[in-house]
Amino acid sequence: MSKRLFLSAPHMSGNELKYIEKVFQSNYIAPLGAYVDKFEESIKAYTRSENALALSSGTGAIHLALRILGVGAGDDVLASTFTFIGSVNAILYQNANPVFIDSDKESWNISPKLLNKYLLTCEKKPKALILTHLYGMSADIEKIKDICTSHGVYLIEDAAESLGATFNKKHTGTFGDFGIYSFNGNKILTTSGGGMLVSPNKKWIEKAKFYATQAKESFIHYEHNEYGYNYRMSNVLAAIGVAQMEVIEDRVLKKREIFGWYKEFLNDIEEITFMPELANSRGNRWLTALTFDKTAYTDVMEALEKINVESRPLWKPMHMQPLFQHAVSLLDGTSETLYKNGLCLASSTTMVKDDVKMICEKIRSIL
Ligand SMILES: *Cc1c(COP(=O)(O)O)cnc(C)c1O
Repeated sequence: MSKRLFLSAPHMSGNELKYIEKVFQSNYIAPLGAYVDKFEESIKAYTRSENALALSSGTGAIHLALRILGVGAGDDVLASTFTFIGSVNAILYQNANPVFIDSDKESWNISPKLLNKYLLTCEKKPKALILTHLYGMSADIEKIKDICTSHGVYLIEDAAESLGATFNKKHTGTFGDFGIYSFNGNKILTTSGGGMLVSPNKKWIEKAKFYATQAKESFIHYEHNEYGYNYRMSNVLAAIGVAQMEVIEDRVLKKREIFGWYKEFLNDIEEITFMPELANSRGNRWLTALTFDKTAYTDVMEALEKINVESRPLWKPMHMQPLFQHAVSLLDGTSETLYKNGLCLASSTTMVKDDVKMICEKIRSIL
């Protein structure tokens, strides 16, 4: 059996161990240290965000954003329904209510039209929107930001999957009041686990840092006026992050190249539609995603599994999850149709063109 081809396997730059070694030599194993600062600086420089905070996960970053924006019990929070659960779990941590908005066909991300319609007609104004840039592809972010601004709704960008993706040359994650990135195992970069919170608002990031370190007041005797969390990133993992950031552009270009290969080999098949890329945007093509008009995606998945190639259905929309059966949503069927017909294909940056060719031949054989 040939070596397994994964959706998005970790891909080290080569400098990770060297930097970890330096951490060990300094004995600043944890929790904080010079590499945490360096990692934050590298994210700031690359995404051109003004303030950044390294955390133990992307989910924790979203949680801190909601807490800082004052989202609490009984508040409504808008979110993309077509997303991964990590995007919306923190709404529940704050005892708030998610309100799910469907995708549009142009971006597969939240529909600005439906978002605006909801905000024009709702009785209770939501406090914030958590917008996901799905599979590394930018949402129609300028329009969405304008809608949020005109309705007085805070914008949190879930850019967990979209580090390196831009809209009008501006990085996803830097349009909103807050943006978050994830460095979990299969993201475009990984620290094995971790996240980053960014914001143009310095005070908010300082407050987030305070909450992320157990809300310790600055007294030597550990005084507490509020409750916090243990959410910061360790210096060891930040060392991995610094080494990974050295190759972020290479990884984006390689992911886009892999997408290009899939397109080259499958473009003539009429029943296949690839996830679109909005004009003026550059996606990072974290995972190549497509839909089939006629063939069941499960048949394709099983065939690929037989040749040891990983694939996965598109995220099951949040409004279809038993957990959210009582949540309010504004839907037009778009995400449900995508979910029922779609698949993510192996997109690891270690793959070569022949790997993609082999996968495409397999797909072609069963259509
Ligand atoms: C991975 C992911 C998250 C969660 O990030 P973690 O670092 O794993 O907590 C949130 N939202 C989306 C869209 C993701 O893909």
